[in-house]
Amino acid sequence: LSAEAQRVIDEIEEKDVDFLRLQFTDILGTVKNVAVPATQAEKAFTDGIYFDGSSIEGFVRIQESDMRLKPDPETFAILPWRDGRSARLICDVIDTSTGEPFEGDPRTVLKRVLDRAEEMGYTVNVAPEPEFFLFEEDEDGRATTKTNDAGGYFDLAPKDLASDVRRDIIYGLEQMDFEIEASHHEVAEGQHEINFEYDDALTTADNVGTFRTVVRAIAAQHDLHATFMPKPIPKINGSGMHTHVSLFDEDGNNAFHDEDDEFNLSDTAHSFLAGVLEHAPAITAVADPTVNSYKRLVPGYEAPVYVAWSDRNRSALIRKPAARVPAASRIELRSPDPSCNPYLAFAAIITAGLDGIEEGLEAPDPVRENIYEFDEEKREEYGIDTLPANLGEAVSALEADEVIEEALGEHVYEKFIEAKTQEYDEFRIDVSQWELDRYLETY
Ligand code: GLN
Ligand code: MG
Ligand code: MG
Ligand code: MG
Repeated sequence: LSAEAQRVIDEIEEKDVDFLRLQFTDILGTVKNVAVPATQAEKAFTDGIYFDGSSIEGFVRIQESDMRLKPDPETFAILPWRDGRSARLICDVIDTSTGEPFEGDPRTVLKRVLDRAEEMGYTVNVAPEPEFFLFEEDEDGRATTKTNDAGGYFDLAPKDLASDVRRDIIYGLEQMDFEIEASHHEVAEGQHEINFEYDDALTTADNVGTFRTVVRAIAAQHDLHATFMPKPIPKINGSGMHTHVSLFDEDGNNAFHDEDDEFNLSDTAHSFLAGVLEHAPAITAVADPTVNSYKRLVPGYEAPVYVAWSDRNRSALIRKPAARVPAASRIELRSPDPSCNPYLAFAAIITAGLDGIEEGLEAPDPVRENIYEFDEEKREEYGIDTLPANLGEAVSALEADEVIEEALGEHVYEKFIEAKTQEYDEFRIDVSQWELDRYLETY
């Protein structure tokens, strides 16, 4: 047993934990659990826990379904909503036929990308800004789209009725070792944002999964439904998950910072940014992976539509936030939404950026005007492309992008495209309420 694993076992005994939830995610980003009695902890750390992967989304074919979970002791946390008797451990998935990390495990995909960054001399820091809605439940406990407050951006009580819930969510997150930086009511009614401190990309991806679980569980205790669906209500802001990225070098300095640059961004940062712009369409398929994601990516609701960057305005895909200290120099990608699989989304973004560095790409000039107001001619003049307009277009862009294909690895790439093509086809043949309202009586 490693010292870290022993420390976890001691803590399990000390705190009288009864159950361990061994967690991993499927390709769609859904957190899966295998619960074992805490008495199995030692065995879990030494031998791993075997499970049948054949029914997990995109994992394996039936004939090769045995998988082993290998818990990462660094991820031990006691779940605050189970009387402190249950804890979780995030696991790597091991393919029992080879004994190697399973290539269909999103966590393995991200780790491989981070290994590449390390070979290039970098560690990658990521901070997300997940937004979500709190909705009332109906009498049967089912989610509605009725918000429980009418607050707006940064409103305070008494209008912000949901601040109690948000406070409880924050307590829950803090109990699970989150460093909360800020939380506020978002622009839309019933919409919230909670920011937590940046960390290395793997820890942050783990944190996003935990975040979604905690937010939903604590909202449910208040009889509210928390949703990370990107655009639950038309004609008001949707929910994004802006993603801030920076690279640190081996001396622990921010490789994105350059005092002498007009934007305080180093050549490395400019090239990274250029790589992300170049691969933006394919990244969108992974970072905005649902049919509904594209209802958010429309002009006028603070969500990006155009492939450009800016040091000023928020209509661009990438923003350079003001940084108070060199360590805080970073870029903010504004397309991801909280329905994404964070491991895969970060893997795609980071790979695109590293590729930009390796290719020595140069970033275009920033755009300082409101791009929502540009017409097509002006966009052409500035050389600004448009993000995919729907999931079908995004999947086509992913199919055409070999760099992002390599980022995801063959297994995940194929399964992801298969699942998303099917999802889009189902949507395409459906007839919506909008169409009935518009045409049924007119024609
Ligand atoms: N909700 C917006 C989005 O969809 C972001 C709003 C904001 O954080 N300023 O990305
Ligand atoms: Mg924010
Ligand atoms: Mg926000
Ligand atoms: Mg932001």
